[in-house]
Amino acid sequence: MKYIFGPVNSRRLGRSLGIDLFAYKICNLNCIYCEVGTASTSVGQRAYYTSPQAIIEEIDVFCADPGRLDTVDVFTVTAKGEPTLHSGLGQIIRHLKRVTDKPVAVLTNGTTLMHSDVRQELAVADIVIPSLDAALAESFLKVDRPGADVDLEKVIEGLTFFSHTFRGKLWLEILLVQDFNDSSRDIEALISAVRCMRLDRIQLNTVVRPPAEHFARPLERERLVELADYLHENLGVPVDLPFAPAEEAPRMQPPAILETNRALSLDEVLEEILQMLKRRPCTAVDIDRTFQLGGPDKVEQLLEPFVNSGVLQRQNHENTCYYQ
Ligand code: SF4
Repeated sequence: MKYIFGPVNSRRLGRSLGIDLFAYKICNLNCIYCEVGTASTSVGQRAYYTSPQAIIEEIDVFCADPGRLDTVDVFTVTAKGEPTLHSGLGQIIRHLKRVTDKPVAVLTNGTTLMHSDVRQELAVADIVIPSLDAALAESFLKVDRPGADVDLEKVIEGLTFFSHTFRGKLWLEILLVQDFNDSSRDIEALISAVRCMRLDRIQLNTVVRPPAEHFARPLERERLVELADYLHENLGVPVDLPFAPAEEAPRMQPPAILETNRALSLDEVLEEILQMLKRRPCTAVDIDRTFQLGGPDKVEQLLEPFVNSGVLQRQNHENTCYYQ
């Protein structure tokens, strides 16, 4: 499959089938922590960057297999970049809602919600997870490195307006990078901006996987916990720390994935792993949690030939080895 990957165990969403709208990175930001890498140019225009029909055909093939469909908790529309820049987004969400009764989530960087066409298309989704990393212009510039047509004030206005009109669940993600957007001024500015929004949850995050820029460093866990408490006290909204260290993460629904993997050949499992690694770096623990291959050691053995042949690379980040 070219556009569909997973299902993967998402700490936020459960067993999530990813639908990646792009074949390569298309984004109007160039975040220093991006897992997809740096973008050579910023793309601000909505367009049909890939064929919606090709994506819909893959969705239909997946949904035609009840055994595989049963292993999914949620369909997550995402992209190597910003999914709301795809003009076919609404068509794809509506198709998902027609062919399945599973919830549909959309991840977005939140920069296009001032546009009524984007808001209308997202209105059909069950969960929207937008980001807002900074409410101070200088921090937004440093962390998210927006394209020329992205205006922070309009982004916050769009997010606020959407939060009061969207009927589904809205979870705001805030990603903090050490010494870039984690000062007291940054936190107070974020609180002022977010206070006007109607949110169901806040997901507080930091740099977990290998970032686009080596200088993007994570916050210490203690500091994140402290900030999560502070945001909760000031905003009255649940604040999650979804990216707990791997050893603290729960194993999710092992029976379902075990059934799935018994039905998949080794080649198919390897293909799914490679598809997943195309989109974001993962540890052997992440891969084992998703595919239940008998432990991280087994994953390492399985992937060794791909590393030796140069198809995959190992990268160390914060004392953790990632495959990409
Ligand atoms: S992290 Fe998301 S919003 Fe930021 S550059 Fe990467 S794809 Fe775009």
